[in-house]
Amino acid sequence: RAMATSLLRVPPPEELLRPLAVPERLLLGPGPSNVPRRIQAAGGRQLLGHMHPEMLQVMDEIKAGIQYAFQTHNRLTLAVSGSGHCAMEAALFNLLEPGDTVLVAVNGIWGQRAADIARRLGANVCELLKTPGKYFTPQDIEQVSAGHHAEGTSWPPAWSPSLRVTQGLVQHRPLVLFITHGESSTGVLQPLEGLGELCHRYGCLLLVDSVASLGGAPIFMDQQEIDVLYSGSQKVLNAPPGSAPISFSERARTRGSDTGPTAPGCARGCWTWGLSSSWRRRWVQGKPTTTTTEQGQREDTALCSWRCAWAASDATEKSPPAMSLCPGSVLGSPGAVGLKRARLPTITTVRLPDGYDWKDITAFLMDNHGMEVAGGLGPTVGKVLRIGLMGCNSTSDNVDRVLAALRDALKRCQRSRL
Ligand code: PMP
Repeated sequence: RAMATSLLRVPPPEELLRPLAVPERLLLGPGPSNVPRRIQAAGGRQLLGHMHPEMLQVMDEIKAGIQYAFQTHNRLTLAVSGSGHCAMEAALFNLLEPGDTVLVAVNGIWGQRAADIARRLGANVCELLKTPGKYFTPQDIEQVSAGHHAEGTSWPPAWSPSLRVTQGLVQHRPLVLFITHGESSTGVLQPLEGLGELCHRYGCLLLVDSVASLGGAPIFMDQQEIDVLYSGSQKVLNAPPGSAPISFSERARTRGSDTGPTAPGCARGCWTWGLSSSWRRRWVQGKPTTTTTEQGQREDTALCSWRCAWAASDATEKSPPAMSLCPGSVLGSPGAVGLKRARLPTITTVRLPDGYDWKDITAFLMDNHGMEVAGGLGPTVGKVLRIGLMGCNSTSDNVDRVLAALRDALKRCQRSRL
């Protein structure tokens, strides 16, 4: 043993020997949001074996929970072990092959991200561009010009060489349309009415990101004819990050089935889905096979949390927040990014008043009020603050707290007169 110890060149980290200190914080940014006690407790429970009947039951219950939350009967409905980004990647990866055309609606950072991933997959990416703060109409998506961006802004982003802002389904005839329901970088809620039917008229699949909206704004996957829908756990669901619900319609599954097992993804050519993990296989085919213990164990904690998240998320919590911030009341006028209608109920963007540095305000809130509020993201950096009121955090008490804290910040943070 002495000899083995003498071979160690990296000392044991002192900091890991100390107990973990986690401060109490009110997480009112765009996510993660606070986790209620019941879900915290689920995360602290002992693991189950991945093939134990209780575990399989938990997985079935989670699937039922996602079907309920998405309002879908899709069989291929599961929780991906990963973040919202992971679900975005899984959705695109399972729908697209090199050379396929995807139309991406870009009115904030999430469309940009999707376009970026699709490009890396070798897809032919066509972007439908809209000024951040605006949403797409069915006409925009079908064929009419969507590119009303203001001159002199950093929009469109410089990396976007193949910008074709004026063309939609009619011209591109894409295999997939990607659109974001809750654009958390700008605070816009995209109306989805009619988009599924429109896409299907053009033989196109509708892929929707609902990471920032699920549970806070109504979404009806089957009725709205959405083909692939994904979300995340760390926003309205108030569960820890790291598991992301996703669902594929029968149309999305059968679309590429002629490509068989050579398809890079799993849902497309569907029988390959689930080979890596028993719980996925169970959900798709009802026949569990063996998987690695590590994988099974990794799922347990996340899935137990999920199980409780669903149980805890009753009708009251799933309706839009009863109290939403009045953006004009504290930080200047509403419409921080040109937004008049379709405000996202979960994440409110408020304009940064002239002369303030957003970093001073967010740091002040953290240091003096133990509260997280975020600055802008992508096209809204330096222009807005983003305030999240999601799930158990969406209370009138928290509205009062954030308004009082912001008032305090405006009084005490330095304001440049220039
Ligand atoms: N899509 C949207 C609309 C989001 O708001 C976010 C997270 N802010 C993501 C995707 C990515 O989710 P995650 O941070 O869990 O990777």
